[in-house]
Amino acid sequence: MTTYKIAAIPGDGIGGEVISAGVEVLHALAKREASFGFHVDHFDWGSERYKKTGAFMPENGRELIAGHDAILFGSAGAPDVPDHITLWGLRLAICQPFDQYANVRPTRILPGITSPLRAVTGPELDWVIVRENSEGEYAGVGGRVHRGLPEEAATDVSMFTRAGVARIMRFAFRLAQSRPRKLLTVVTKSNAQRHAMVMWDEIAAEVAAEFPDVTWDKMLVDAMTMRMVLRPGSIDTVVATNLHADILSELAAALAGSLGIAPTANLNPERKFPSMFEPIHGSAFDIMGKGIANPVGTFWSCVMMLEHLGEAKAAARLMRAIERVTADPSLHTPDLGGKATTAQVTAAVCNALLGDNTA
Ligand code: NAD
Ligand code: MN
Repeated sequence: MTTYKIAAIPGDGIGGEVISAGVEVLHALAKREASFGFHVDHFDWGSERYKKTGAFMPENGRELIAGHDAILFGSAGAPDVPDHITLWGLRLAICQPFDQYANVRPTRILPGITSPLRAVTGPELDWVIVRENSEGEYAGVGGRVHRGLPEEAATDVSMFTRAGVARIMRFAFRLAQSRPRKLLTVVTKSNAQRHAMVMWDEIAAEVAAEFPDVTWDKMLVDAMTMRMVLRPGSIDTVVATNLHADILSELAAALAGSLGIAPTANLNPERKFPSMFEPIHGSAFDIMGKGIANPVGTFWSCVMMLEHLGEAKAAARLMRAIERVTADPSLHTPDLGGKATTAQVTAAVCNALLGDNTA
């Protein structure tokens, strides 16, 4: 029997609530499958640790998790710690050195869930957004001088490399090719940003030549927001820069019903380092500790983790269980307009797993 070693990093706010729900579901799934199990190590890295010790994770933190098969991450962010300190101190401190350059964000309207887009039902909205996750606008290049003086100046330079753009384009074309419609939209802003974004477009065209069976088009990011709302059915796979995809994928999550459902995978496709799976939402200060956080985004992230581990059958089983549960409005958490608690949704998914009779 295979035992997968999972590093669980719940982080802050509702992170702890949804990650313990996710771990419970993983163990229920392993029981149902019987061909594999999980060994989960929990790491208390986050803002509480930072406030006590001055660091979100220990100095050898990455060494402690480098040997795990996957990382399950909750959320990083606390009301009394500036967000840029948290993001760079924990999430990016893992994503960047582990070279998790492909951030994959599927969006679908799950059964039982209503999109705020009137007249849009399931099949018209089935997207995967690929976010460049290692450079671009979030490369961390920049500086701030003359603090507090009238001549104070600050820069955040977006940095694109040929190697970085080519690898994310190849990843996105390959993903588009693996989906039935073989359709890719390359998001850009090469009208206003005339250096890096023009190179981005050029590399997209070069890589496209390697994938003659993929239909692709190019779209300015502002126009893309309109297209997502007005013509969702014209979209399938999308590739965009770190900043653009950050924003577009949050719009996508809302259009699919709730931020609480949306999953993401931070992949190191070469598997030199572990990949990291997390719901896309944050710490949700307004609902933390109330037991009503929607755990579905974490469960769907677990599906992506199973796919990455090569457990396609188990991944499909978990997705079926999630969809059985979302289809029942009495099992919707308040973000979906229901009254269910995190614990009730989790128990229902575990039950659906145990009752799933597919071989
Ligand atoms: P947020 O995602 O925490 O919350 C936005 C809204 O969505 C809130 O009303 C919240 O209640 C709701 N929501 C989010 N997840 C939910 C869930 N699972 N179930 C039900 N409702 C849910 O975004 P924010 O308020 O902008 O950020 C709060 C903190 O989280 C900040 O510190 C931010 O930096 C951090 N954050 C972290 C990550 C991450 O670690 N990946 C991502 C986004 C935000
Ligand atoms: Mn975001």
